Amino acid sequence: MENTNQSIKNRADKVFIGNYLRYPAAIVSGAGCELIDADGNRYLDFLSGIAVCALGHCHPAVTRAISEQASRLVHVSNLYYTNPQTELAELLVENTFADKVFMANSGAEANEAAIKLARIASGEGRYEIITLEGSFHGRTLATVAATAQPKFHQGFEPLPQGFVYAEFGDVGAIEQCITPQTCAIMCEPLQGEGGVRPLPEDYLQFLRHLCDTHSLLLVFDEVQTGMGRTGSLFAYQQLGVTPDIMTVAKALGNGMPIGAMVTTEKLASALVPGTHASTFGGNPVACAAAVATLKVMLADGFLDEVQAKGDYFRARLAEVQQKHPGLCSHVRGMGLLNGLVMTEAGCERGADIVNAMYDEHILINFAGNCALRFAPPLIVDRTEIDRAIVILDQVLGSQKA
Ligand SMILES: *Cc1c(COP(=O)(O)O)cnc(C)c1O
Repeated sequence: MENTNQSIKNRADKVFIGNYLRYPAAIVSGAGCELIDADGNRYLDFLSGIAVCALGHCHPAVTRAISEQASRLVHVSNLYYTNPQTELAELLVENTFADKVFMANSGAEANEAAIKLARIASGEGRYEIITLEGSFHGRTLATVAATAQPKFHQGFEPLPQGFVYAEFGDVGAIEQCITPQTCAIMCEPLQGEGGVRPLPEDYLQFLRHLCDTHSLLLVFDEVQTGMGRTGSLFAYQQLGVTPDIMTVAKALGNGMPIGAMVTTEKLASALVPGTHASTFGGNPVACAAAVATLKVMLADGFLDEVQAKGDYFRARLAEVQQKHPGLCSHVRGMGLLNGLVMTEAGCERGADIVNAMYDEHILINFAGNCALRFAPPLIVDRTEIDRAIVILDQVLGSQKA
């Protein structure tokens, strides 16, 4: 039987739960910023599998690391030590504020570990975690509860207790949320799913200060902003505020499912044997992929180039914005995580614009119901950026008011 987009879609739609809204393409291969579907169409990927394939599809160093590790050892559980897992933890410790690492398999799981650590390290009676309106922390019940967006809660109540939502960027509002039960403030340094929304300037400094004054833990969810996406290995490193706990996932394994929660030695000591665990966490193949990914990102000049290309991309997006002021309001983002924020009229067309880009074989999405999100592989070149910009300009031009 021939595999075409249509035949794969027909079979999939029969057997899958319908919780995903998918485009009608079945992707069969990828290299760099390009994807190819079952009918032979080529796409320019400006979403990277939702900020995951940061080194592009099938980066040779990662593919080699996966193949070599897969032929040697795939899994042993955390009853034993392995070298790939150790090497990855060493790299994370050497290149962040952290002393200690817990390995998980996804962003939500890394956040679950962070939530459990924040609670157990803070002692009895202190369990409330303050999160910010517009945040996204995952789809497990606890991380959905941490996600301060009612649309993610509907139908799943009762949710786990102990999450308090503060108004985005409001200094006074968050202070009022603190009670004797509060143990932590958790936020993304820049909200990805919430519409590529940076926090107001000095707000993170204020959160750090607030945490220090009230003996609270500061938790950064860098699942989307981490791993070079914003032009430093982690966003906190250029924002000048250090958290107590940080979570990483998405691009960590350049496509292999892996997440991590990192913290200080002092806090880590609360998670004694028996308090938390994962069967697959720290899987040797996923860790080998992550080690290879980090080594590429840490090589001389890589992150500087992400900054430079990010600046270039934002400048080009600003040109597009100025040509279509009826639809586009402004540009925001860091490094190569950028959003073109729509006007009210533009928001209504967000889905149409993303679909029109798809028809032109450029993959982007619409985040937070307000911004076109661009998260190309970090290896994207200026020619590819220019191509996406030209098509975006055409697509916006062809939108009927
Ligand atoms: C994607 C994302 C998550 C959830 O990660 P999963 O791997 O889908 O569980 C959590 N936090 C942030 C900021 C994210 O962008």
